[in-house]
Amino acid sequence: SSSVFNVTVAPPDALFGVLAAYKADPSSQKVDVSVGAYRDNSGKPWVLPVVKKVDAILKDDPTLDHEYLPITGLPDFTASSARLVLGATADPIKNDLVASVQTISGTGANHLGALFLSRHPPTTSVGPTTVYISSPTWPNHKQIFANVGIAVREYPYFDPKTLGLDINGFLSALESAEPGSIILLHACAHNPTGVDPTQDQWKQIADVIIRKNLFPFFDCAYQGFASGDLDRDAWAVRYFLSKGVELLVCQSFAKNFGLYGERAGALHVISATKEISTAVKSQLAVLQRSEISNPPAYGARIVAKVLNDPTLFEEWTEDLKRMSGRIQEMRKALYDKLVELGTPGTWNHIIDQIGMFSFTGLTPAQVGKITKEYHVYLTSNGRISMAGLNSNNIDYFAKAVDSVVR
Ligand code: PLP
Repeated sequence: SSSVFNVTVAPPDALFGVLAAYKADPSSQKVDVSVGAYRDNSGKPWVLPVVKKVDAILKDDPTLDHEYLPITGLPDFTASSARLVLGATADPIKNDLVASVQTISGTGANHLGALFLSRHPPTTSVGPTTVYISSPTWPNHKQIFANVGIAVREYPYFDPKTLGLDINGFLSALESAEPGSIILLHACAHNPTGVDPTQDQWKQIADVIIRKNLFPFFDCAYQGFASGDLDRDAWAVRYFLSKGVELLVCQSFAKNFGLYGERAGALHVISATKEISTAVKSQLAVLQRSEISNPPAYGARIVAKVLNDPTLFEEWTEDLKRMSGRIQEMRKALYDKLVELGTPGTWNHIIDQIGMFSFTGLTPAQVGKITKEYHVYLTSNGRISMAGLNSNNIDYFAKAVDSVVR
């Protein structure tokens, strides 16, 4: 029969396709290092103890109901999350220069930020609004910006020869970007490479961005989860702020609170004046209204409770240390194992990289082989989620890597 829809089947999402294949594999030795979600040492999702505790408190709170939140979200949540990422004593907070809106986790923050810039492009821009994203980046970045009609270009980031940062390529792409271009930066724990600029390199990057009138768009999905230190993971954002530049920050609480499915996040836009900031917030509210009307309450309530209570906050930092600490242990264990096996190649990058992911350097052919022969599931770019490794599967995983690179 005929249809008004002229559509063909879209290719499956690359990442969720790998996950589906993993689930369908009956092997008892199978290992999933594809999806970017924390797992405990028994390979299970982990509900943070502090989240469990707040969950119980909220259940018993007679003042809570299921009414709509304000369009821009729960005020206790947006204010405390701005302090968390920008720093409680940051000048833009003291001077009312921050417009914060609660979003559908980090993805929604990226979308709302991109949508806002598509309607209100930087006044410094000369041509069509353009975003520069790192090569490679979180694949969603490209489609989020393309969806709102912003032209997408790439800047060099990862150097496959050193498995590290291509700082010269990065800086020269910034030097030749048109004024007003949006520069998407991962605040910490770059996804997918696990390679972050050093603080000195961040200073060089900021220098060009400021000198060339480019607009910094920070995506912060791993604060505290990366190093275990909330301040250290926010250093780049705060460095840019200390230079007095206008910028925006997308913030996700998926990883650092383990609230993946609750979709708690925020967008913070920092403007030069209080008047502009008020106008920005009102325009963000207009956009938000037509897209989701009001953000979801539950995850934001949990985060707000923790961020606004010193005892709970302290407990949260312990949970963060536990997650980031286990991941760092796995990096060390994998590195040691590969060295012990005499696996061809150098493996320092495994311990030098930071955050959820490691870019192993495995080629697409090696990835095909490790999946087929060893039931080890990862994306074809060679990225592994460190959280998928644990003391039960790390030897098996290292031997599988050893065998496919020989
Ligand atoms: N940005 C980056 C770089 C990410 O890695 C992620 C999650 O993988 C996100 C944003 C957004 O995730 P969520 O929408 O679950 O907060």
